[in-house]
Amino acid sequence: MNETGLSFEQGPIRPPSEARSLLLRVTRNCPWNQCLFCPVYKGTKFSLRTVDEIKQDIRKARDIADDIKALSWRLGYSGAVNNQVISHIFRFGGYSESYRSIAVWLFYGTGACFLQDADNLVMKTEDLVEVLRFLREKFPEITRLTTYARSRTVVRKSLESLRSLREAGLDRIHIGLETGYDPLLKLIKKGVSAAQHIEAGQKVMGSGIELSEYVMPGLGGQEMWREHAVETARVLNRINPHFIRLRSLRVPNRVPLYEKLRDGTFTLQTDDMLAEEIKVFIETLEGITSTVTSDHIMNLLEEVSGKLPEDKEKMLDVIRKYQELPDEERLIYRVGRRGGAYRSTDDLERDPATYRKIRHLVEEITEKEGTEGVEKFMTQVADRYI
Ligand code: SF4
Repeated sequence: MNETGLSFEQGPIRPPSEARSLLLRVTRNCPWNQCLFCPVYKGTKFSLRTVDEIKQDIRKARDIADDIKALSWRLGYSGAVNNQVISHIFRFGGYSESYRSIAVWLFYGTGACFLQDADNLVMKTEDLVEVLRFLREKFPEITRLTTYARSRTVVRKSLESLRSLREAGLDRIHIGLETGYDPLLKLIKKGVSAAQHIEAGQKVMGSGIELSEYVMPGLGGQEMWREHAVETARVLNRINPHFIRLRSLRVPNRVPLYEKLRDGTFTLQTDDMLAEEIKVFIETLEGITSTVTSDHIMNLLEEVSGKLPEDKEKMLDVIRKYQELPDEERLIYRVGRRGGAYRSTDDLERDPATYRKIRHLVEEITEKEGTEGVEKFMTQVADRYI
């Protein structure tokens, strides 16, 4: 077949670790949609999709994948999806977004698939099982199948239900834990308690499905940062998830939390305060074997990552090294990091040309607008990523 306009539905986001995954939309938007810090689904309405609808999308995705391979044969590349095939699809008009998306997935060859949107476990277990089985049958090349879910929803599922999802091919669940501190969970309207986070996490671990827990440094603001760091680590100590992923808070003016910033009831952590907060958090993680990652562009220190317990000191050293930098260097690092030029404090020495350019930029802004201007500049640059 050759219907280059063929398309299937995809949602707006996926976790950073799923950047090279096939994205398929199983439910639309978020059934909770109240978290004060979250801009993603505001103004949209949650809806379930029927099993037939989802299966239809999976069939289309299969047809597109087969068509792209056929195109590769026609172009003389024996079915391989290489640079030439990608450039053909992107350069010549008529190929739908779905074609582009599947072409890139085939090009990277990760075999990973992420089910969108925010909380697919709200589906009836038997429906989700049917979808998972169908997907595995149509795409035997999928090697990792993952989804987002809310702790509150997981708590309502029985262990048997989770096991049947595992058996049907669900490999990993990503949960937005954000914090383990109850007053903060309430403040940000997460709709879940620390005890429910623990119950959900332990249940997923007990089912054999891999668990990835997202933590949000900065979420406690200057008012609750220490309790946020300590209680979140304590909750994770009870769960021992496979992954702990850091995704730092940003507050663009379109999220409800912005109102609290404006009325002064919530005060943002500075980058230096955040470094201290993450240090306290990592120090409090005890007796677990999780892998910590900071793979989100919004994180100040990407190298705070490693396997517990053996890499704990290494992670703390990354933070200490940042804290020990002279004031001017810390500022230059922060500007470089927010602008995407730096991934490590080592880059300050590794690349003198970039260092000089950033220092010049900082001097220029400071001269015109003072240090506040530099902070404002960094906020604007960082908020581009939200
Ligand atoms: S549950 Fe997740 S997607 Fe839904 S509002 Fe909260 S953070 Fe956003």
